[in-house]
Amino acid sequence: MEMEYRKLGRSGLQISALSLGSWLTFGKQIDDRTAEKLMAKAYEAGVNFFDNAEIYARGESERVMGRILKKMNWPRSSYLVSSKAFFGSEDDKPNQRGLSRKHLFEACDAALQRLQVDYLDLYFCHRPDPDTPIEETVWAMNDLLRQGKILYWGTSEWSAQEITEAHLVARQYHLIGPVMEQPQYNLFHRKRVEEEYKRIYEDLGLGLTIWSPLASGTLTPKYLKGLPQNTRLFMDGMDWLRELVLREERIRKAQKLAELAKKLGISLPQLAIAWCLKNPRVSTVILGASKVEQLEENLKAPEALPLLNEEVIQSIENILNES
Ligand code: NDP
Repeated sequence: MEMEYRKLGRSGLQISALSLGSWLTFGKQIDDRTAEKLMAKAYEAGVNFFDNAEIYARGESERVMGRILKKMNWPRSSYLVSSKAFFGSEDDKPNQRGLSRKHLFEACDAALQRLQVDYLDLYFCHRPDPDTPIEETVWAMNDLLRQGKILYWGTSEWSAQEITEAHLVARQYHLIGPVMEQPQYNLFHRKRVEEEYKRIYEDLGLGLTIWSPLASGTLTPKYLKGLPQNTRLFMDGMDWLRELVLREERIRKAQKLAELAKKLGISLPQLAIAWCLKNPRVSTVILGASKVEQLEENLKAPEALPLLNEEVIQSIENILNES
């Protein structure tokens, strides 16, 4: 099936409906050879966006991706690559994190070096920074735009109010506001995308690059019959994530969603990803994978989209609403 390309919000940029991210995998859980195979497989399938951040494996994820991009030698015009600033990649000294002009400038230069590219297509403020005026951040992002170091800027997990404030500042000084937001969105986590942002999609022309479409693997069959240890949730230091996502109620619902998927002749991950794609506000669903087979399975999710008719959507709602 041909890859679908969507507009990133009101911008002129076309982004593949499925993209590939590197959180917890590149430079950490998987070896570089697997990372290379994942990127090659994705690109072959029409994926044009690769997502990264300074904090991912503390810079190592960007280094791995940069080496792969260099080796692949794909035309620079054929793909989009991102970074995100906020959490830092070095120690936690003052100014080594946050959204101050100093950190945004330094983090951008460091990401460009690690990724071995001349500019970032997308650059995100990875979280809101209550210690920096939004005005300073908007100006810094616009200066990076003017310097040609980034092409589009956006936010990740900002409230509707914070995004609106950034646009008001941009309007006041004739600057460019954030074009995209990167929120979590999946069958288990919907409120912000479906309710909080409702008004700002049209008003601000906001696009979405959504993360964790499989809720870190809990929307796959792997936890239905046991607790496989060779997974993200059982990696060292991931107890916090495991406690957050591996809840009994979710497993029960995942079981029922898996049964529904089976009836439709698709897999649970395909159902979950197709469900995200069905929301027209979503510009791209960022996939994560620790194995090539997972990515192959997930890349077929668009084929399941026509199966999600009103009746199926209602069955999904019923399962999610069960207490
Ligand atoms: P998912 O929720 O889809 O989780 C991906 C993980 O689920 C894989 O690494 C794998 O983990 C497991 N998995 C994936 N497919 C399958 C399958 N078919 N069968 C079984 N297991 C499968 O997405 P991520 O949480 O990885 O998020 C995607 C991207 O979004 C990230 O790489 C990152 O770029 C971005 N992101 C952004 C955030 C932000 O704050 N802006 C936060 C988090 C992510 P395993 O094999 O180890 O179980």
